[in-house]
Amino acid sequence: THFGFKTVTEDKKASLVADVFHSVAKNYDIMNDVMSFGLHRIWKRFTLFTSEIKPGDKILDIAGGTGDMTKGFKKIVGDSGEVWHTDINSSMLKVGRDRLLDEGILTPQCLCDAEKLPFPDNYFNGVCVSFGLRNMTHKDIALKEMYRVLKPGGVLMVLEFSKVHKPLDKIYDIYSFKLLPLMGKVIAKDADSYQYLAESIRMHPDQETLKEMMLEAGFDKVKYHNLTFGVTALHKGYKA
Ligand code: SAM
Repeated sequence: THFGFKTVTEDKKASLVADVFHSVAKNYDIMNDVMSFGLHRIWKRFTLFTSEIKPGDKILDIAGGTGDMTKGFKKIVGDSGEVWHTDINSSMLKVGRDRLLDEGILTPQCLCDAEKLPFPDNYFNGVCVSFGLRNMTHKDIALKEMYRVLKPGGVLMVLEFSKVHKPLDKIYDIYSFKLLPLMGKVIAKDADSYQYLAESIRMHPDQETLKEMMLEAGFDKVKYHNLTFGVTALHKGYKA
């Protein structure tokens, strides 16, 4: 692959991911709508709607990017609650911060790595990572950190690309390997970043593997829900 993801060292992966998100930050929202035909809005709404989060809860949005989930959770928890908008990438966090402020949403923000969260143990009622886990170098460490900061009874929500059901997987492969980079090239003038996106989707663990990884990290009652034939899946797990 052009990034040679199968052979790059772990350190290199983190810096390549950083380059990709510094590069796409400005066009991220529009590209999300174009490439998913607006479906990402429905997947995110489903996550929020089924989140079991209540007014007054404390939520951590990891890899929060331009802030879609932070905004949704803030509406649910209200002024008595707390939603932390966090990301490892300063460009993404800045676009998100400006957008949230423009929309009148004031939330604490933090530039931090999901693998080393600067939050105390047992603090949050809910942790959400939406389209972020696949970019993380050590997913096992990140999942353990998410577990650590959750209160007992708290819920982790992982919304992520997943494995598409047969026979639609063939059409999806053509879409993601041919059309996606082409759209990235024409619209965002950044074919490489969108090529990375397609590759990272293919290499991400499938539904059952991610479920196993969450159980391994300590989560209880792990379940998942396929969305749009498995293009994405919402995994949920609880801290006992
Ligand atoms: N959550 C947003 C959404 O659903 O639209 C943004 C998702 S965007 C595809 C992925 C985000 O993951 C990027 O903003 C990137 O900077 C962030 N990211 C990658 N590795 C990370 C890490 N180790 N810790 C925290 N964030 C990370």
